[in-house]
Amino acid sequence: MLSEIFCQTKAVDTLTRAYDCGRIPHAYIFEGIDGIGKYTTALMWSKLLLCKSPAKNIAPSSPQRGFAATSCGKCPSCLAFEVDSHPDFHHIYKELLKLNSDANKRKRQALDLPVDVIRDFLVDKVQLKPSLSESKIFIVSEAEKLNTESQNLLLKTLEEPPNKSFIILLCTKLDNLLPTTKSRCQIVHFGPLDEEKIIEYLTEKDVNKQEAKFWARLTGGSIGQADLFSKLAPSFYGIKKELLDRFSKFQSADAVDFAQWLNSASSAPSESWQKLKGDTSKSDLTRQAKRAIVSILISAFTDAMKISFAGAEKMTNFDQPQQIKRLAERFGPEACAGIIELCYETVRFIDASVNEKLVFEHLLLNCADYDIIKIS
Ligand SMILES: [Zn+2]
Repeated sequence: MLSEIFCQTKAVDTLTRAYDCGRIPHAYIFEGIDGIGKYTTALMWSKLLLCKSPAKNIAPSSPQRGFAATSCGKCPSCLAFEVDSHPDFHHIYKELLKLNSDANKRKRQALDLPVDVIRDFLVDKVQLKPSLSESKIFIVSEAEKLNTESQNLLLKTLEEPPNKSFIILLCTKLDNLLPTTKSRCQIVHFGPLDEEKIIEYLTEKDVNKQEAKFWARLTGGSIGQADLFSKLAPSFYGIKKELLDRFSKFQSADAVDFAQWLNSASSAPSESWQKLKGDTSKSDLTRQAKRAIVSILISAFTDAMKISFAGAEKMTNFDQPQQIKRLAERFGPEACAGIIELCYETVRFIDASVNEKLVFEHLLLNCADYDIIKIS
């Protein structure tokens, strides 16, 4: 139910208010970092919009308003929705390219949301009448990856979706969307969650408090990502601890070996990751793991820059103060800033799928180039 969405009262309130006064925009952008409930909210919102006899329920999220509309859970629409087979509900994501009938398209790696996917799975399908409910719903995941061609194709549909359809774009980077796309949608902001809420949630699932706190900080308040990282096997937290330990002792002669270790550390959790996120391709997951490893390095060097004035408790890597201290001593603040810049460049290489096997080697050799490394 919408009212049960974890810690997104404001966003949910915006939606239910629109519903209650019967003025529901046909195109929404749900904006915010990954893993804070955008997709879950979009699902519950879709279920309500498709429901054939919506009910009124006490809304625990906003008791001052008393009641909020909710899906009934019993009608044919709700029942179909619950078993994931509602004919009027469509989830659009970049990996759909692989389901395309054209073999040449299937071979392509889905890095962005290509126009073929938007045409075949959204623009063409929106023309068909709904078959079970009064309207149709299209949720587009990773809308920040819609390329210009895809967005231009979408414009007309966003402006006036036929057949009482609703379109929800889930987006982590609003800047990636064209002004013409944004102006046709109502934007609902989803904020990051408080550290304490995430720690409470994870420790209830038997995650160690120290680990929970680290993931809450690293992910910047993304409960979904923190939850995912804590569930990976082999332990991703174990990998992060070894990573900082190795980096704090790393010498330039070890760069190639260390890069190999980083490559295997990023592919190790992919099997368990795939079990948790079924519809994502293995290469995409390895890329995500690499990005996560680089974000750990960014957090470590950011900590190293501020350890002298902020103290260990405020750091993301509060759990490895010795390693951060060693990094701070070996690399001065300027080198730390330079390495953080290199890390961002590495993320861009990973996103663009450039030299996938060599990205870490490139990063480490460049780190070693910071001559400021004092051999102790
Ligand atoms: Zn219903």
